[in-house]
Amino acid sequence: MLKEKIEQFAKACNYLNTSTEFFEDISQVKAVFEFKIRPTIDGKQTVLPIIRVWHCNPHSTGARPYKGGFRFHPGVNVELLKVLSMDMTEKCAIADLPFGGSKGGSPIDVRKLTKEELRDITEKMTKEFLRHNVLSPDIDVFGPDVGTNSETMFWVYNKVAEENLQMRLPNVAAVVTGKPIEHDGCPGREDATSKGGLIVLKEFIKLSKCLPEKGATLAIQGFGNVGSNLARLAPDRVEFNFNVVAVSDENSGLYNEAGLDFLSIEAWYKEHKTFRGYKNATEISNEELLLLPVDILVPAAIENQITAKNASKVKAKVVLELANEAVTQEAHHILKLAGIHDIPGITANSGGVVVSFIEWARNRGSRWHTVELNKIGEFVDEELRKIMQTVIRNVFEKSQILNLTINEAAHILAVEKIYEKMKQKHGYK
Ligand code: NAD
Repeated sequence: MLKEKIEQFAKACNYLNTSTEFFEDISQVKAVFEFKIRPTIDGKQTVLPIIRVWHCNPHSTGARPYKGGFRFHPGVNVELLKVLSMDMTEKCAIADLPFGGSKGGSPIDVRKLTKEELRDITEKMTKEFLRHNVLSPDIDVFGPDVGTNSETMFWVYNKVAEENLQMRLPNVAAVVTGKPIEHDGCPGREDATSKGGLIVLKEFIKLSKCLPEKGATLAIQGFGNVGSNLARLAPDRVEFNFNVVAVSDENSGLYNEAGLDFLSIEAWYKEHKTFRGYKNATEISNEELLLLPVDILVPAAIENQITAKNASKVKAKVVLELANEAVTQEAHHILKLAGIHDIPGITANSGGVVVSFIEWARNRGSRWHTVELNKIGEFVDEELRKIMQTVIRNVFEKSQILNLTINEAAHILAVEKIYEKMKQKHGYK
């Protein structure tokens, strides 16, 4: 994955004729922090790696931090986190957010751990990152990702606050985003990635006219924070008007060509923790979902789901990558030849970091503090809409001017924006 990512940077740098120093800078990461903690799991003391990667910060670290999710998933390793931190830098650049890109994680399977064990792991890692000055409101700000959620973010915040009684860090709530609303979180953060993705999708359809504006069918892979919120919001007749016909998690999926009833599948999933046994739809595998005859395919689980092996069998007209790196470079090429539009994660899924920016800024006492409490939800919605529409309009325009796919244009635009700032910061020729 890392090799592919560097090749992608190389292409964009060649295209933009950037300096060699710049290419060398963005094709490497600034720092990898890897520590070991000793949580108690299943009654036994265990040694567990925790990793944080900083890619690059086109802004001034210490004033404008690195920003990125923290993931608990068995597939976590340094190479993956390097790629995902690079995506974060690009994503923040396209949306004009004043952050650098970072990513972190630990290779654990949350389904095998109790809540107490997860809290213990989270608190131990928080102390370790804090001790090494990695976690801080103006240096590196964590957010939720696969296997972590608002509760995990609250555990981090609470631990940092406890450790910060000497007041070394200012605005301590800004150390992490995606917190619960009652603990300095921001209304609209929980479903921001999904809503942002739908705003991008709707606008893209309007600009490209590749599908009818109402009633297009949608298959969603992944039923966690991003996938389930997407399935809930997409059918909203006033706002989006998509028809969700398929959903899946890593073990099973459901398909009904007439459409799925969200409330009923959600209730089933909550009770049974699986889609298996649900009556009003056909059971399909997670892999089958990717190849369904739908208008729009949304990978919202993990990376490398559409690859050279299955890309030629994809029947959707649009792929909206809410999961980062869901489509490999080879697969992108196959989709391109088939005329399938692939909206990459750096364009499709930045809604989460957009609202995280508002949360971070509010926690640091910026002007958003002055928005009345009962108007914050409305304000966040409006900001999210404006920013996501601008993102896709800019990417679309770039693709038209340069005659490139949406995916290619997004990377060119991101690198161009990073280059402008890095030139000022580092004085490249
Ligand atoms: P989550 O942990 O809440 O949900 C992940 C879902 O993916 C679960 O339904 C799980 O069953 C499924 N899954 C896991 N492994 C799978 C596999 N091998 N095959 C198929 N399905 C699998 O995570 P999330 O927060 O919903 O994140 C989903 C994706 O969206 C990730 O790629 C993440 O990086 C990206 N993303 C999330 C946010 C956010 O705000 N949470 C923001 C931007 C991007």
